[in-house]
Amino acid sequence: MLFRSTRGVEDNISSSEAILKGIAKDGGLFVPSSFPEVYSKLKDKVDYGYEELAEKIIGQYFTDIPNEDLIRAISDAYKGRFNVEVKNGFLELYHGPTSAFKDAALLFLPQIMKKAKKVINFKNEIVILTATSGDTGKAALEGFSGVEGFKVVVYYPKSGVSEVQEKQMRTQRGNNVFVVAIDGNFDDAQRGVKTIFSNKELKEDLEKSNISLSSANSINIGRLVPQIVYYFYGYFELVRQGEIKEGDNINVAVPTGNFGNILAAYYAKQMGLPIDKLICASNENNVLTDFFKEGTYDKNRELILTESPSMDILVSSNLERLLYELSDRDSEKVQELMNSLQSSGKYSITQEMKEKLSDFYGDYSEIDEVYKAIKDVYNKEDYLMDTHTAVAYSVYKKYQEKTGDNKKVLVASTASPFKFNRSIINALGIKVDEESDLELLNKLSDYTSLEIPAGLKELKDLPILHNLECPSDKMEATLKEILKVGV
Ligand SMILES: *Cc1c(COP(=O)(O)O)cnc(C)c1O
Repeated sequence: MLFRSTRGVEDNISSSEAILKGIAKDGGLFVPSSFPEVYSKLKDKVDYGYEELAEKIIGQYFTDIPNEDLIRAISDAYKGRFNVEVKNGFLELYHGPTSAFKDAALLFLPQIMKKAKKVINFKNEIVILTATSGDTGKAALEGFSGVEGFKVVVYYPKSGVSEVQEKQMRTQRGNNVFVVAIDGNFDDAQRGVKTIFSNKELKEDLEKSNISLSSANSINIGRLVPQIVYYFYGYFELVRQGEIKEGDNINVAVPTGNFGNILAAYYAKQMGLPIDKLICASNENNVLTDFFKEGTYDKNRELILTESPSMDILVSSNLERLLYELSDRDSEKVQELMNSLQSSGKYSITQEMKEKLSDFYGDYSEIDEVYKAIKDVYNKEDYLMDTHTAVAYSVYKKYQEKTGDNKKVLVASTASPFKFNRSIINALGIKVDEESDLELLNKLSDYTSLEIPAGLKELKDLPILHNLECPSDKMEATLKEILKVGV
């Protein structure tokens, strides 16, 4: 299997190179040269465990990584740290160290990067830089902590993440991980990281110390491919539970931000998994809803801060990979659309591309609908959703009402309700005093008799290990101090 850029300049790139580069030279995203049909080969193996299934699926793509290295990477990523469960039709993806679904990708990425370095004999230490609004930062810290040959530096906006998220990051163990609080907002942090990446002089200085910079953001193909696995696993789990028969079509509903998670479902469908509709759910930032309805992507609008913050996004980067498929892999067309997005903040796809959108249904839900969904499902099914998951559930209900489509659905459940506990408590109408978010964990647990996930429960007793702070225009200087380069 080889990889190519959606914008056409790079082609025939090995998986190791694609994983280590992250993004192509032309600014495009790496995509596989084809989608191997594996469903027909796997369907008799319904009883595969998660790691076994991961090996079969990921092994289709990362073919230059020796099989024993792949098995090792999967085991080091997931064994005893991450698993997937299906309950009441919810595909629970948050049973990992950070209690959000980004663990599925960010526990695996460091392990596969380590193996990729070996394949292409890449000797430099890799320093991962990430700007985070919460979930990604902690997941990257967990994933890279203790992985030899890597350091990770996470920048977060000092007053732009929740108390739980901040505590999760500042208590992270590991001598190769660094956390820096920025005096500014998320955009400032992100801009700062971009500026560091584009600084050629710094790059040369770092090179002299045998250091390369890289990012762990969600466009890396090493993050996308492991996400295909849980759709197969979820489907087989429905078969095991007797909810569907082998070969039945299902729908999936996914709370969407950067379009990574739902794209993985689309890739699973290309690999033969019997998925009918891909239901793309947004919150009040409904750029994708408009795109699926009208064929026009327009980011020219205010970003709204919502109670499903991991979906507060105006440019869904992974959509570029879908455009590539919709245009029958026409990289010139993709380049043209991306140029238009760059210059005017919008683009429109052709009629032919629009016709291929019928795999998808896009819609959005607002906060009152989300609260109502959380309360209803809790009261009627005794099942507690987080706010992101509830966006997907609420949009799925709209789809069902509109179409009468009663096929079995898998709703991607992307975070533990305890992670966004204040919103859940509001949704359920539980009375609270002046408690901090950490104190509210107990309140929610008492009310619902659900257990607090271990990684969140221990937070209040963990020592703070990271105290670095800097103004947003001093991020590079702070990085140099951390790496002891040029100071
Ligand atoms: C990142 C995230 C999402 C959005 O996933 P994408 O792959 O970016 O579309 C949804 N829910 C939670 C909890 C997340 O952390």
